[in-house]
Amino acid sequence: FDQQDGYIWFNGEFVQWADAKVHVLTHGLHYASAVFEGERAYDGEIFKLTEHTERLHESARILGFKIPYSVEEIDEACRQLLAKQGMKDAYVRPIAWRGSESMGVSAQNNRINLAIAIWEWPSYFDPEQKLKGIRLDIAEYRRPDPRTAPSKSKAAGLYMICTLSKHAAEAKGYADAMMLDWRGQVAEATGANIFFVKDGKLHTPTPDCFLNGITRQTIIDLAKRRGIEVVERVIMPEELEGFEQCFICGTAAEVTPVAEIGPYSFKPAEITKVLMEDYSNEVRPGLRAAAE
Ligand code: PMP
Repeated sequence: FDQQDGYIWFNGEFVQWADAKVHVLTHGLHYASAVFEGERAYDGEIFKLTEHTERLHESARILGFKIPYSVEEIDEACRQLLAKQGMKDAYVRPIAWRGSESMGVSAQNNRINLAIAIWEWPSYFDPEQKLKGIRLDIAEYRRPDPRTAPSKSKAAGLYMICTLSKHAAEAKGYADAMMLDWRGQVAEATGANIFFVKDGKLHTPTPDCFLNGITRQTIIDLAKRRGIEVVERVIMPEELEGFEQCFICGTAAEVTPVAEIGPYSFKPAEITKVLMEDYSNEVRPGLRAAAE
């Protein structure tokens, strides 16, 4: 993946993709002092770009560092890179991390670096599986208590349990895993938020120890515009039996129907399909409905 054509924006400059390297003694690599974003461009425009960039700044603030580029500068760098890559529909990955100027847990004076990469990433899940609804395992690892980890930051370190959970799920033939939180409540998937449908209403866990995803917030807006009631609440895994439909949503996953979670099964139907379609229109500048 590191030997492609094209450019990466690296600390203010466009460098050749294959030359965008860091030293092995990078603090971000050893101690996970890194935060990142995941964005998507549709028809040449990055959807909710400024919201993502603001979240990147906020993620860094939570980890105790300041990105040395303003939100406007980062937005502009993303737009310029998209044009330079010659892509209209693409995935955008900004990442900020503490550098390699000193080694040890404390790294007060290490440089804060920022890089942005853009590549084509059409579907996060196998497109055929996605239409039928994907199968989720129930992860062993749980989302930590906010007093145990900075759970509101899109911090690289928090993805350790996501990769472990996703790998474990894949080893059993599942596409992904649903994670519970430290209390045993339903939380989210390893890289996407989760929604359920019952009696014409959407139910989704309150995001008090995981990301309140930008896609999640978009889905809630779209559902409200359709007059679909959205209930944010505590959801226990035993309740899964009573839900009719389920989907996960995130920038990479977009809206992906779920057919199974462990022993529970769901059937993608009207509300999931309507929201999939509304979302795919909302992200495209030419198809976006005027906000009410
Ligand atoms: N939860 C996790 C763990 C994620 O990695 C993501 C993707 N960033 C989300 C939720 C969804 O966030 P968003 O809709 O902002 O992409």
